[in-house]
Amino acid sequence: MNYFYGPVPSRRLGFSLGVNLTPQKYCTFDCIYCQIGKTSKKTVERFFPVNMENFERQLKEIIRKNQKIDYISISGSGEPTLHKSLDLIIDTIKHTTQNKYPVAVITNSSLLYQKEVRKELARADLIVPSLDAATKKSFYKIDKPQKSITFKKIINGLIALRKEFKGKIWLEIMLIGGINDSIADAYKFKALVKKINPDKVQLNLPVRPSGAKISFPEYARVKQIKKIIGPKTEIVSSFYKQAQKRFSASITQDIIRYLKVRPATLIDLAKSMGQDKTYLEKQLKKLLAKSIVKIKTHNNKKYFIYAQR
Ligand code: SF4
Repeated sequence: MNYFYGPVPSRRLGFSLGVNLTPQKYCTFDCIYCQIGKTSKKTVERFFPVNMENFERQLKEIIRKNQKIDYISISGSGEPTLHKSLDLIIDTIKHTTQNKYPVAVITNSSLLYQKEVRKELARADLIVPSLDAATKKSFYKIDKPQKSITFKKIINGLIALRKEFKGKIWLEIMLIGGINDSIADAYKFKALVKKINPDKVQLNLPVRPSGAKISFPEYARVKQIKKIIGPKTEIVSSFYKQAQKRFSASITQDIIRYLKVRPATLIDLAKSMGQDKTYLEKQLKKLLAKSIVKIKTHNNKKYFIYAQR
């Protein structure tokens, strides 16, 4: 298994080297906006699928080839806190890279109520937990959680995390048109944010294609919500830094590895790989002809998707 993908241009983390710890798609949720597809195993049982020897070897190889990485982010194609002993994973990353890169963990917050999970995450530099709903009703509608996970557990887990975690916490709120974007919701989010007390609140929009038909809130509404929640809040906008040159023995393998984790536009791929668009287009055509990749149009943008799930 490949445990790493990218570095990819992340809208929040600059050039982010993604770490994928769980098989696709083991998750505690089955969010309506999920870009990876339907959850194949909805579970809260933590396990240890990573082979540490391979993990370290792959990381060394990637670090050797890439000069530009802003963050190493544990996220991937499922919920990363389902992996046991995240402290060992984070320590291994830090040790292998000689502490050169900050480590971020992107989580759906579902297991933060467990003291053990919070203790393991203490080794990270940044935690990006999500809070998709301000009410119980929209929580079930948006996240479709495993049955033991409640809205209350999510909130309590986030509050406890803030009390114990010494690094930065950037709380992500995914706004979905008609579900969690009302003014009443915005005031409820404001009250929750006050209790959780993150360093930043990032309003995000479901810009990548998912299986479900979902809509964006109007931009004016997003700005209103930002104002209501308060000064720590920002709207996550498209981010691309200058493409870095990245040399790869097999560009098609790199494309496949990237698309296995997330759909991408031609521009996403070109910027992540530091490759010319025309050259990448030719490679994509070959993958399309072999039905390894397919195209999906979402919000008038053409996304390439790994087709062999
Ligand atoms: S938590 Fe993340 S991986 Fe899991 S279903 Fe939601 S968006 Fe997908």
